Amino acid sequence: MSKKKIAILGSTGSIGTQALDVISQHPDLFEARVLTAGRRADLLIDQARRFLPDAVVIADESQYQYVQEALADLPVKVYAGEEALCQVVEGEQIDIVLTALVGFAGLKPTLHAINARKAIALANKETLVVAGELVMQRALARQAPILPVDSEHSAIFQCLAGERSPIEKIILTASGGPFRLMERERLAAVTPTEALKHPNWQMGAKITIDSATMMNKGFEMIEAKWLFGVSPTDIEIVVHPESIIHSAVQFADGAVKAQLGMPDMRVPIQYALSYPQRLTLNTPKLDLFTLGHLTFEKPDMERFACLALAYEATQSGGNKPCVLNAANEVANLAFREGRLGFLQIAEVIAETMARTPFVAEPSLDTYLATDKEARAICADLIAGLS
Ligand code: NAD
Ligand code: MG
Repeated sequence: MSKKKIAILGSTGSIGTQALDVISQHPDLFEARVLTAGRRADLLIDQARRFLPDAVVIADESQYQYVQEALADLPVKVYAGEEALCQVVEGEQIDIVLTALVGFAGLKPTLHAINARKAIALANKETLVVAGELVMQRALARQAPILPVDSEHSAIFQCLAGERSPIEKIILTASGGPFRLMERERLAAVTPTEALKHPNWQMGAKITIDSATMMNKGFEMIEAKWLFGVSPTDIEIVVHPESIIHSAVQFADGAVKAQLGMPDMRVPIQYALSYPQRLTLNTPKLDLFTLGHLTFEKPDMERFACLALAYEATQSGGNKPCVLNAANEVANLAFREGRLGFLQIAEVIAETMARTPFVAEPSLDTYLATDKEARAICADLIAGLS
């Protein structure tokens, strides 16, 4: 395997730092050539000194000078702003772009990377929620492979290796999050601190809240629909609190293939980077005797109304999933900042979905406009509540 040159969008986050750990375990195979961060300038500077990329981008332009001065003694180019993210992924020296930034902000740079025919290691699921059809079409047209990083989708991808037969059903597993067993009445009063305690995974704040509301699983259902070309009715969501079976695929003969392992995101990150090879990884290994048993439950769409909203959005199609995502980003942040109750997250998203004008065949410009409009509507709704 020749050395793969990697651009990490969001290198200072949970996925980004774990990707750098994978890269540092295989310095002969991987090279970090571009690192980018939203606001965490000091960590970006440390990473740049350690990995010596060609370029770094700090999305927050007000910190450009700070980063630039801190790296002045090194041959590392420093850029700032959203546009720079779109440009650095196109660089000739890049083979793989790992999209590990959060939310709608991932859409434009991902499209630029596809256009430049880069392989996409896709962690930023919001890109496929918002514009799955457009992204998959462009990836096909430009022959840019999309390699899933999300653990469930990596599991499905691994189950499909070597198969030529169509998928009959996808079994998409879900941990159920920290409130899996909590009654609806109590959910109304849960705090951000409680919601940020995920039982099995250490992740960024936004996705951790999405896991608590189960919007994350709704997003992953939409992500699976686009990545694997299946209908949502052929995706079964199964709550599996141990997070050992990362997902499974059923075929026409009734055979079910699943991928198992300890919950460690470095496994799917590394698989996306090393595909089709597997490499060694210094990670805790699965011991079935210690586990003893695995359990499964049906998801509760009434307590976890965000899941039902995701089905509604994908059934409507058009710009609805884009509205779903935009409203969720606004509501998720408002909850984290104590401006919105936990159960109100689904309420304001549903209301934003009802109020934002529907567009059946959106273009990229439609998505950009819809995202803005839905954010404004949702922010107004939240402001009106207090
Ligand atoms: P995080 O918050 O820990 O990190 C996000 C990174 O993106 C940081 O480097 C941050 O500086 C950067 N960033 C944030 N907003 C940005 C913006 N507007 N412009 C440019 N850069 C920006 O998030 P995370 O948990 O690592 O998640 C990243 C993505 O991966 C999300 O889409 C998430 O859904 C997905 N994902 C994460 C996990 C996980 O275990 N963390 C698992 C599956 C999927
Ligand atoms: Mg996942």
